[in-house]
Amino acid sequence: MRAAPRIVQVALPCPLHTLFDYLSPDSASAPPVGARVRVPFGARKTLVGVVASQAAASALPPQRLKRVVATLDQDPLWSATLFDLLCWAADYYHHPLGEVLATALPAWLRQGRPARLSGFAFWALNATGQGNDPAVLVRAPAQRRVFTALRAAPDGLSETDLQAISPNWRAALRALQRRGWIVKEERDVFAQPSPVSRPAPPLTPAQAAAVSAIGAHANKYQGFLLHGVTGSGKTEVYLAAIDAVLARGGQALVLVPEIGLTPQLVERFRERFAVSIAVLHSGLTDGERLAAWLAARDGRAAVVLGTRSAVFTPFKRLGLMVVDEEHDGSYKQQEGFRYSARDVAVMRAARESIPVVLGSATPSLESLKNARDGAYQLLELPDRTGGAGMPDVALIDLRQHAVDDGLTHPLRMAIADCLARGEQSLLFLNRRGFAPAWMCHDCGWVANCERCDARLTYHQRRKLLICHHCGHEEPTVTTCPQCADGAPKALGEGTERIEQAIARLFPKVRIARLDRDATRAKGALEETLRRVRAGEADILIGTQMLSKGHDFPNVTLVGVINADQGLYSGDFRAEEKLMQQILQVAGRAGRADKLGRVLLQTWHPDHPLFAALRRHDFNGFADYLLSERSSASYPPYVHLALLRAESPRAGAAVAFLAHAHRLAASPAGVELMDPVPAPMERRQGRWRAQLLVQAEHRKPLHAFLDRWVQALAASKEAKRVRWSLDVDPIDLY
Ligand code: ADP
Ligand code: ZN
Ligand code: ZN
Repeated sequence: MRAAPRIVQVALPCPLHTLFDYLSPDSASAPPVGARVRVPFGARKTLVGVVASQAAASALPPQRLKRVVATLDQDPLWSATLFDLLCWAADYYHHPLGEVLATALPAWLRQGRPARLSGFAFWALNATGQGNDPAVLVRAPAQRRVFTALRAAPDGLSETDLQAISPNWRAALRALQRRGWIVKEERDVFAQPSPVSRPAPPLTPAQAAAVSAIGAHANKYQGFLLHGVTGSGKTEVYLAAIDAVLARGGQALVLVPEIGLTPQLVERFRERFAVSIAVLHSGLTDGERLAAWLAARDGRAAVVLGTRSAVFTPFKRLGLMVVDEEHDGSYKQQEGFRYSARDVAVMRAARESIPVVLGSATPSLESLKNARDGAYQLLELPDRTGGAGMPDVALIDLRQHAVDDGLTHPLRMAIADCLARGEQSLLFLNRRGFAPAWMCHDCGWVANCERCDARLTYHQRRKLLICHHCGHEEPTVTTCPQCADGAPKALGEGTERIEQAIARLFPKVRIARLDRDATRAKGALEETLRRVRAGEADILIGTQMLSKGHDFPNVTLVGVINADQGLYSGDFRAEEKLMQQILQVAGRAGRADKLGRVLLQTWHPDHPLFAALRRHDFNGFADYLLSERSSASYPPYVHLALLRAESPRAGAAVAFLAHAHRLAASPAGVELMDPVPAPMERRQGRWRAQLLVQAEHRKPLHAFLDRWVQALAASKEAKRVRWSLDVDPIDLY
């Protein structure tokens, strides 16, 4: 018999770019790669880590090696394919493997709990509890609320349900448990899927062609770009393609943007499939999350719907991945482990030898280029289903029309017409709050955030000036602190102001506002969406939250209050993002059998973006953008990485990046720009700077980044600032 390897190299959840050597717990068996172990770390602490490799010997002297305290898993947590993908992601994003693995694990597994759980926890009243009167709980309101809810639910309630009842639900449960009134049981929610309640419609020829193209690649890697205008039936294509996978006994993963995981979408999946579906949403408790993770891994959950981090869900027989609204910025994590879930999904599909479908009405230029280069197969759905035509797009020239509270006369007239017809309108302005500035008109003073290079936004309902970058809040000043004479006022408009203006213009209309402020309360988003769909609102006002895949069949007018927002911001993606946003919002209009109308208020009616929008010519505008990107050497024609640094001391971030620049020493095939202050130089009291790295080819770029990050991590300068590397950055600030 071969001797077991003596040393295990463990990835630990800490920001160090290294593995840690430990002695195997005993000489007979070493924990396998991909298993969790508990190891001593520092003087008193232990940490839960994952075995990344085994070795016969360590570079450390034997007396410095500590021994694994406990092996937490007898078998690897992941398949070899998925574990390799996680290692690849750590390499590609130059992020410590231990933190990458931590991202991929449910909290309970990160904490070292056993990887066993057959279902969700449910709570119910027992016989003792049933006989009680909630009046005895008069001094314990949370207990009383939980008790009353449980009494009304003979089948018990899950922890997700209970969370909605009181913020103190857990303490209340414990107290009721001490009284001996309630019982907890673990229920396998994945055991009994509900039957199909809505059969599939016959597919259109374009949908059928897409589904059969995907089906032709069972058990083979192929990337597909499903480009279909809003309402063209992309979701039906996903459903049909998944159906075929399920029929073969496979599982499917569907990724949606953060806000796209609506009850409406989940319902569509539940109605269609008689299989169990796991939905990974942010409201799950840690226990429920682990149960869903295990159900996917064991093959009990056949379909998983989730946002970004669901891309790391383990599966037993994964057969298809779908990335809906693939252009959406929320697929990219913007802090810590800065991965792109869309790109990881494509890489995962290649490793698992399965097809991946990237769907969008407004694909990213990256994906379009991949399709044009032949790396992805392009599937197009050019027409809306149900005979709905494309909305008519018209411009309102702000140079010729005065605005009052953000609204021009033609837009106000169009809203009035729409109301008269009993139809809904939607007003889009990607700015929450009442006004983006609070300004003295006598001397020009503007209220700025004391911790950021940013203006404070005026929130009228809360009577506060709020920084949208750091959350800083302060009361409004009514006399100018600069000239002591003027009375500062709100300048410009946000959604709150539009809401107020509409309420004044049309006193009887029912308004629904959809932005982060209006939907902060749990369930508020769902309730607003329900009201709009049920026809209980006439005018819907909102930010980019509106643009995310919602279906508002009775909306026939879309007004874009400021179609130029961000256009001249200096961000090379500004035009792409604006095109996507406007098309997505415009796509909400006239989805049923009613023709829609889109009005864009703009100062720049001659911009090629608007000509393209009027012709519904996404491809033409994408061609124009791609040629601009190509001649300016921007992605997707070059690859970027951004080294960021920040410090509370002025100058420290730039000094660190200058040091990083010197360390780099002109690498071949890679170009380093000079360190520059970030476009928003100060944020949350920290001075920020950045250094852009670009390369025509990925290989030299990653070879360089590898060496560079190692060298930076080892340098003493790196300890003086907070720094991070962003591979394939989306936002360059
Ligand atoms: P997308 O995802 O592209 O926005 P959906 O799949 O949501 O489009 O389809 C838009 C609407 O058209 C939905 O109400 C859907 O039920 C309906 N639909 C889609 N495909 C068909 C079809 N082949 N026959 C009838 N109705 C369809
Ligand atoms: Zn003043
Ligand atoms: Zn701030």
